[in-house]
Amino acid sequence: MADLFTTLITSPVAKKVGVPQPTRLRRHTPGDPLVEGPVLVAGGGRFEKSLTSRLEEAGVTVVATVDDTTERLGAIVMDLSAALDPGELAQLRSIGAPAVKRLAKNARVVVVGTDPATLSDVGEVATQRALEGFSRSLGKELRFGATANLVLAQGDATDGVHSAVEFFLSGRSAYVDGQVVRVDETTGTTDETLRPLAGKVAVVTGAARGIGAEIAAVLARDGATVVAVDMPAAGEALAKVANDVRGTALQLDVTAADAGSRIVEHATQRHGRIDIVVHNAGITRDRLFVNLDEAKWDSVIDVNLGSILRMNEAILGQGGLGEGGRIVCLSSIAGIAGNRGQTNYGASKAGLIGLVTALAPQVRDRGITVNAVAPGFIETEMTARVPFATREMGRRINSLQQGGLPRDVAEAIAWLSQPGAAAVTGQVLRVCGQSWLGA
Ligand code: NAD
Repeated sequence: MADLFTTLITSPVAKKVGVPQPTRLRRHTPGDPLVEGPVLVAGGGRFEKSLTSRLEEAGVTVVATVDDTTERLGAIVMDLSAALDPGELAQLRSIGAPAVKRLAKNARVVVVGTDPATLSDVGEVATQRALEGFSRSLGKELRFGATANLVLAQGDATDGVHSAVEFFLSGRSAYVDGQVVRVDETTGTTDETLRPLAGKVAVVTGAARGIGAEIAAVLARDGATVVAVDMPAAGEALAKVANDVRGTALQLDVTAADAGSRIVEHATQRHGRIDIVVHNAGITRDRLFVNLDEAKWDSVIDVNLGSILRMNEAILGQGGLGEGGRIVCLSSIAGIAGNRGQTNYGASKAGLIGLVTALAPQVRDRGITVNAVAPGFIETEMTARVPFATREMGRRINSLQQGGLPRDVAEAIAWLSQPGAAAVTGQVLRVCGQSWLGA
């Protein structure tokens, strides 16, 4: 959604006079190569060999050193999961520094480590924790759309590491930068690369417009049958989204006491099952705290948090979400960093992080994952209404120096919904271009 300022600074004249241009990010299109250019895989970690074979099977050219290719690198994967002491971190520099100089536009750096929470030796914990500071700092140095992210394995998390590394290498993670994803030992693979959600039924709330409409489109593109849910007042727009994705529409206020059971009833009667629920419906009622009336407080807490707790009861109950199900909640960086004028919204979105971390272990034995995605500045109708200076600041204060698109949020949700992402649960994945806020 380009406004006048964006149109001006990206105009041919502005380009000619040297106004710095944000890099056009590489975004996922089914059938595209996973990554453009050879991938350097090194570091001697526990997953290096299996990652190399997996990437080669996916048609990627894997090299062991920068000297093995004359092309610019599409990505660097440094597996330091076996590093035990700080001396071994020198590999980050010896492998990484010459390779970073050879990165192509929109390249990826992915570091793989062992989750420090699973270690007890102080030196090992310190060494593995160092990887986080490294990758987040490198993310802030990379240019031209390149990103750096960290995957932390809990135990022998081979499938989880593969899935997370592939996500970070792909165009699906275009606006995910400076993030850490933890993966556990749960096994899970995605056989169908073009339609990884084939046969799944997904419910998306707040689907009539904005990020929700895009989530519906991306989940459908990836093979899911979508139930698009939104307020009765959004009926026309909702019907259009449902038609476009060849799914069904359910007019429903998510704060209704029976919202969860109506979702279960609709999805099971019309489509036979529910596999994925995306709690996207959300509202803002911004005011400085001292001016916030009861209605603005209550409505934001109830739409953004209370309703989700209630709906989950029915969705996780008899006849609801099946084995291997997925729940994804839309949090926000306002729930992590806080935001002036958004005490109600920040509280609701932080509450969702609590929900995700507490619920995930409770449903783990049913193979159900519960995660949150926390968008940063995303170009939507909501952010187009933000005053000019604040909006422009929101766009720029991140490592990629631009706002994200609804599609970037949708791609992260689509990945978390895949069978292959079974090892990722209880996580909060920021889709924020490595925003400086709450980083
Ligand atoms: P939006 O306002 O464009 O769309 C929200 C949708 O939710 C609307 O279609 C609305 O009708 C629906 N909705 C609201 N209350 C509802 C209710 N009670 N029952 C059913 N549907 C309801 O918002 P968006 O920008 O697309 O944001 C989507 C989600 O992402 C929200 O949860 C928002 O908090 C979160 N988010 C957005 C941004 C951003 O930059 N746009 C950043 C962080 C988080």
